[in-house]
Amino acid sequence: MRKVSLLIIGQGPAGLSAAIYSARAGVQTLVLGCASKVAGDYDIDNYFGFPETISGRELIGRGMRQAQRFGAEVRCERVLSIHQAEHGGYHVHTEQEEYEACAVILATGVARMRPCIDNLQDYEGRGVSYCVSCEGFFYRNKKVMVLGEGNFAANQALELLHYTQDVRICTQGKPMDIAAAFQDRLRQAGIGIQEKKVKTLLGADGLDAVLYADGTQEAVDGVFIAMGQASTADFAASLGLVMRKQFVEVDAQQRTNLPGIFAAGDCVGRFLQISVAVGEGALAAKAAIEHVKKQCLKENGTA
Ligand SMILES: Cc1cc2nc3c(=O)[nH]c(=O)nc-3n(C[C@H](O)[C@H](O)[C@H](O)COP(=O)(O)OP(=O)(O)OC[C@H]3O[C@@H](n4cnc5c(N)ncnc54)[C@H](O)[C@@H]3O)c2cc1C
Repeated sequence: MRKVSLLIIGQGPAGLSAAIYSARAGVQTLVLGCASKVAGDYDIDNYFGFPETISGRELIGRGMRQAQRFGAEVRCERVLSIHQAEHGGYHVHTEQEEYEACAVILATGVARMRPCIDNLQDYEGRGVSYCVSCEGFFYRNKKVMVLGEGNFAANQALELLHYTQDVRICTQGKPMDIAAAFQDRLRQAGIGIQEKKVKTLLGADGLDAVLYADGTQEAVDGVFIAMGQASTADFAASLGLVMRKQFVEVDAQQRTNLPGIFAAGDCVGRFLQISVAVGEGALAAKAAIEHVKKQCLKENGTA
């Protein structure tokens, strides 16, 4: 497991702004994530200092080069889960690696994808769950299904094996997008994958079965949603972060309720704009720098 002082999840304006401040302050900084949603051919007309407009792609590219100039390491890696480490700090598990970080800044934007199922809300908390580490326990030895097409879904399905051996994945009609290594592990564990689409959930007192778009039914006790990539809401659920609807609750210094976990940008949900994300990223970095210097300097003698 690789140790890092500060791990930032997100390569958007919030994450890169945070990285500029932390790397420039001499804190070892790793930024994970891939292209921000604004890193395309969009004209940004309202960001300070660009009277002729700048494209989102150019702005993000510049921010990334600036963070790298100060020594931040930037990698396109998707985070699958975050858990508290035994002796402080956090274990961050990505599609490629596992890290132990002294502090983490969540800068993942707003993203949780929900499947298009007629009556999904009626079953949330009554058979539909978004968090294996929180609710997998309630499905011991039961029949469960993970809805999702990618590595996040594969990881959730494998985590469910702690509680039950009766696990399957349904891609919700999308083409499967699971890395070969994960596919091998799923095969070895006997977890089947089907590319059907769940249309409706069935059951009078909680979930009993799913009805597919092709008209067939399958009995299940629990459905875990893991579409697309993990979002801040998923990390928050397993860490126990206080949320305000789908947004992370933070104080004026971007601190969450967990020491060493900070959040900035759209995932905080104040005003979903680049300028706000950049400002919050700077504040989150300031708080994270203090945390790293206090907590990790004394342990390792290095930030
Ligand atoms: C088309 C469009 C045009 C816009 N135009 C403007 C504009 O003109 N002016 C303006 O102020 N705002 C604009 N916005 C809004 C602006 O883009 C957002 O407010 C801003 O991007 C938020 O930045 P962020 O860093 O919080 O999140 P994002 O930019 O959304 O970045 C999120 C980052 O998190 C990463 N991530 C997410 N999940 C994971 C995971 N599981 N593992 C690893 N990484 C993960 C993503 O890969 C990405 O790098 C626009 C948005 C869109 C979509």
